[in-house]
Order: sequence, then C-alpha cells, then structure tokens
Amino acid sequence: MKVAVLKETFPGERRVALVPAAVAPLVKSGLEVVVESGAGLAAGSPDEAYRAAGAGIVSRDEAFAADCLLAVRACGAAGGCWPADRDRLRPGQVLIGMCDPLSSADACREAADRGATLFALELVPRITRAQSMDVLSSQANIAGYRAVLLAANTLPRILPMMTTAAGTVTPAKVLVLGAGVAGLQAIATAKRLGAQVSAYDVRPAVKEQVQSLGARFVELPIETGAAEAAGGYAKAMGEEFYARQRELLGKVVADSDVVVCTALIPGQRAPVLVTREMVSRMKPGSVIVDMAAERGGNCEGSQPDETVVIDGVTILGPTNLPAEAPIHTSQLYAKNVATFLAHLVKCGLPDVSLDDEICHDTLVARGGELVHPKVRERAGLPPQPGTGQ
Ligand code: NAD
Repeated sequence: MKVAVLKETFPGERRVALVPAAVAPLVKSGLEVVVESGAGLAAGSPDEAYRAAGAGIVSRDEAFAADCLLAVRACGAAGGCWPADRDRLRPGQVLIGMCDPLSSADACREAADRGATLFALELVPRITRAQSMDVLSSQANIAGYRAVLLAANTLPRILPMMTTAAGTVTPAKVLVLGAGVAGLQAIATAKRLGAQVSAYDVRPAVKEQVQSLGARFVELPIETGAAEAAGGYAKAMGEEFYARQRELLGKVVADSDVVVCTALIPGQRAPVLVTREMVSRMKPGSVIVDMAAERGGNCEGSQPDETVVIDGVTILGPTNLPAEAPIHTSQLYAKNVATFLAHLVKCGLPDVSLDDEICHDTLVARGGELVHPKVRERAGLPPQPGTGQ
C-alpha cells in the first residue's frame, strides 16, 4: 500500500502528519511512503531527511494518487482549503487526519460522497491501549504550555516572586479554567514560571490532579455530580448551572492577573465562564488567553485569533497554538498517526474490521456512506440499520 504525507495548506499550519523518524518503521513494515515535497519544512524536516528515512518525495498530484493520505487537517479542520482537497479524492482512497467530525459533519459527508474511507483522529477512544494514538492529548498538552507563555509575554508584569535589593515583586496570580489535558499542562507551566496558580474544573475528579501539580483547586458550592459524561469528558449543563458558576467564579477571576480558559465540551459550543462584567472587574493589564475561542469562547468578547482589549484587560483568542511549536507537535502527532496506521493495517486496512473499538470509533465514512452514528446524527441522517454502527 502506498501512503502519502500531504503538505498542509491551511493558513498558518506548520505541522506535518509524519516526521522522518516515524517514516522508517512504516517502510520497514512493508508500506511504501511518499511525502509531498516541502511538507515537513516548516516543522524542521526537509525533503532530504524524509529521503534518508526511506520515503519518496513527490508532487502534490502524485501524493494524491496514493492509496492512503495522511494529513494534519482534513474536512472541516482544513476550513477553506478542504474543497480543493475533497475534489481530488477518489473512491476507496483512505484519508486519515483531524477532521473536526462533530462540528463539521457536512464536510465529512462530502468525503463520503467522493467514496473515500475517512478516519477522524479526534475520535480515537480515550482508552489505555489507544493512548499513543491520542492526537487530542498530544496537541492539547503543548497548546496548554504555549498558552501560558503567550500570557506571560503579554502580561505587563513578571510571573515569579522576586526579592531584590530594589524591592520585592509578588508573584502573578494565574487561574486556569478547565483542567483537562491543556489545562493541566497550563497549570504545570505557570507553576514552573513561578506564578501562584489556581484552577477550576466542573469535574470534581480533577481536584487531586490539580493539587498534585501544586496548584489550588477552586471549589464552588455548586452541585457537579452530573457533570462528567462517559469517557471522562464534561457534559453540557443547563444555562442555570452556568449562570451560577459565573456568579461564583466572579471573585476569583477578578483577583487573577492571568486567566487561561480551556473549558470544552466535545462537539458543542464552549461554555461561557467569564462575562464582560467579570472582565471589567479585573485589574487593568490583566490577560485572558481564551483557548476555547474557536468554539465560541469561554470568555465573552474573545475573538478567534484576535487581540481584544476590554477595560484595560487584554483578551487573546489563539486557535492554533500547536502550530506554533511545529517541531514537537509534529513529532508527537506523527507518533500518533504512525501507531494508528499500523493498527489499521493490522485490522485489515482498507477493509478494517469494526469489531475493533479503535477502528469502530474512528471510521467516519466508507463505501459512499457516512457510517459514524454521531456524525450521521450531526449531518441530519437517520441511523444506519444493521451495520453494527
Ligand atoms: P476537553 O478538552 O474536552 O475539556 C477541557 C476541560 O474543560 C475538561 O477537563 C472539562 O471537564 C472542562 N470543562 C468543561 N466544561 C466546564 C465548565 N463549565 N467549567 C469548568 N471546566 C469545564 O477535555 P480533555 O482535555 O480532552 O480531557 C477530557 C478527559 O479525558 C479528561 O478526563 C482526561 O483526563 C481524559 N483523558 C483520558 C485519556 C486516556 O485515558 N487515554 C487521555 C486523555 C484524556
């Protein structure tokens, strides 16, 4: 089987789906790997490095002729670049990448209409045996780190306490809202930089993890028993719950120099945790990094990829922090993709068996049909009868 690594065309995307180190084991396993010329350049991997690892360097047309395409961004995740790629897909061709399947079901349906076999990496189940394929974790981890650096560089003060002959500087107060993968790394990074860190999450199970990083867990007198869904994700709660949450968070937000917002609910609009009124109670010069800006934002007023200043508070809404550290995010993504691909091959790619949980959960389109139940639902299609899906 011929596997091609595509060059990303999405504006600002500097990651690549496979780095040279991940090519060699695939070639050794019997796959033919080709890489679109220049695909890895922005991630520190020139064509020669891929050649040395056993890959062929090809044009975009030649790459699209392969049996299996590997991408960082496909379907909805590729935004305005998707139609051009979509029109090149052919029946039976396998496409693997991040697809934004739950929010962009229509783009996935277009891949199905082209007859492609589509695997969405965001749908890799959060189970132990799939941990090395988990792109959400590998990318969110580095995004959380970058978010704190961004805040530190924007804040008109330093993060650590410093005692000098010229006086003592008190540490900055950093509040992290949402302590999943990105949030926990944001906490760890802010701690390393010497800030006084506290964090809040709607899932009570997170408290111990926050405390083990040396941060304070903010406890709100609000019933969160039903807040955790299957797979460890947060569930969407009613507006009444969110209103109460905001009311209770007001004081701790006002008291913070930096707020890093990471709260998400899979496939839904991000919950609003910080209102304009809460922003206006923060000290001028404070910084909010809203990592949920792409999903509507945790902070009212944040705009995707823009800097907004409200009452002296700077609100940043970065939407692609992983692309800012492309060498490492590509290295980790490549490991995820290579492990996933090897798994699919073991399961009989292109006709993978759906008895396997990882194949079952990630397969979105096959044989001209959208086959993933949740994606079908989002695309307004009825469940498929008798397919086991
Ligand atoms: P995510 O990106 O979907 O959400 C980020 C965080 O926001 C979550 O911790 C969530 O609880 C929180 N959140 C949502 N609504 C909130 C609100 N109103 N207020 C405060 N916080 C709110 O989550 P994620 O980082 O992808 O992690 C989801 C879960 O998956 C976690 O339990 C994580 O530990 C688990 N996980 C498991 C594995 C594995 O076992 N292989 C791997 C990675 C993550």
